[in-house]
Amino acid sequence: MKLAKRVEQVTPSLTLAIDAKAKALKASGVDICSFSAGEPDFPTPDHILAAAKQALDDGKTRYGPAAGEPRLREAIAQKLQKDNGLCFGAENIIVTNGGKHSLFDLMLAIIDAGDEVIIPSPFWVSYPEMVKLAGGIPVIVPTDEKSQFKITPAQLQQAITPKTKLFIINSPSNPTGMVYTPAELEALAAIVVANDLLVVSDEIYEKLIYDGAQHVSIGALGPEIYERTLVSSGFAKAYSMTGWRVGWLAGPVEIIRAATLIQGHSTSNVCTFAQWGAIAALEGSQDCVESMRVAFAERRQSMFDLINAIPGLSCAKPDGAFYLLPSIAQTGMTSLEFCDALLEEQKVALIPGIAFGADDFIRLSYATDMDTIKRGMERLDKFVRSRSGSIGASRIQ
Ligand SMILES: *Cc1c(COP(=O)(O)O)cnc(C)c1O
Repeated sequence: MKLAKRVEQVTPSLTLAIDAKAKALKASGVDICSFSAGEPDFPTPDHILAAAKQALDDGKTRYGPAAGEPRLREAIAQKLQKDNGLCFGAENIIVTNGGKHSLFDLMLAIIDAGDEVIIPSPFWVSYPEMVKLAGGIPVIVPTDEKSQFKITPAQLQQAITPKTKLFIINSPSNPTGMVYTPAELEALAAIVVANDLLVVSDEIYEKLIYDGAQHVSIGALGPEIYERTLVSSGFAKAYSMTGWRVGWLAGPVEIIRAATLIQGHSTSNVCTFAQWGAIAALEGSQDCVESMRVAFAERRQSMFDLINAIPGLSCAKPDGAFYLLPSIAQTGMTSLEFCDALLEEQKVALIPGIAFGADDFIRLSYATDMDTIKRGMERLDKFVRSRSGSIGASRIQ
């Protein structure tokens, strides 16, 4: 069978694969501590479930408009005005099958063969693959702990060529958890404007921030950057609605119309009654978001303390999302070797940094209960100690 060339260039999602392996081991009775999941462990809040059940009873089971339920588009526009200071109306919004699909729609809507898309690494696994599927060229700009894994204005400027079309920014970031400050965003926005690029701001973790960090949308920093900004987000992370598959893309009407055209011939509308759950999420009380955030904050602190107590691992403290990204450089192992052996020997699942373009790191999700965090970090400690007599020694010197 000869498959299309576009498929050959694409790497399968390592995060989904490892998560599936961990879940399968657990199902077969193995005592696995998994930190691989990119999803909250909380159930979807009750009032959101109730709204979707009601929608089913009300017969909201038919095709709807490809761009989404008008009331949901309106509620998203209002949220963007109220929370983010972005002056969008319903016509600036398309409802998509999750935040992942909103980005995919965007790539198909704006990328021509050979167009370049600037992606800082460590990056979310799907960005480069989506760009490739759309015929574009991902231009990866490596960042490190020294710059808190943030792309600098000089790096962005240097990566721009006449082919550059789009810059992807993700704050709070998966996998680094870092949150860009308003001043940092302003400096990047100036470069986007000066070079007449588009920027897509993936803000799916905007509600999950800690220690007083502030979330600012780059598009709110002035009229010129506003015209060039797309916001991608969804309900999965803040409302624990990963399986519902509801997200959105917001931006200039011309691009939203193009994305709607694509959806009209591919997925049509997002599941109708799931959209009614999403309406309840936005229109209802936001207390559920805050109580999940508080639980994440506590787990973040525990996991951070436990990891930094392990000789040979070091970890920066991120302000957002629900991930830690410790460096394993001192162990001398590649991230895949590390994660394979850890799963094999200690039954702990986490994601090798190579999946995010960062082979010196491992990603742990703290979207899991405190007991698993404590047991898992003990096992991680044992594993690292078993591998690294030399690390312990160099610490003592
Ligand atoms: C989870 C996630 C998304 C979107 O997830 P959906 O389930 O498709 O809504 C987008 N970007 C990042 C960085 C994510 O971690």
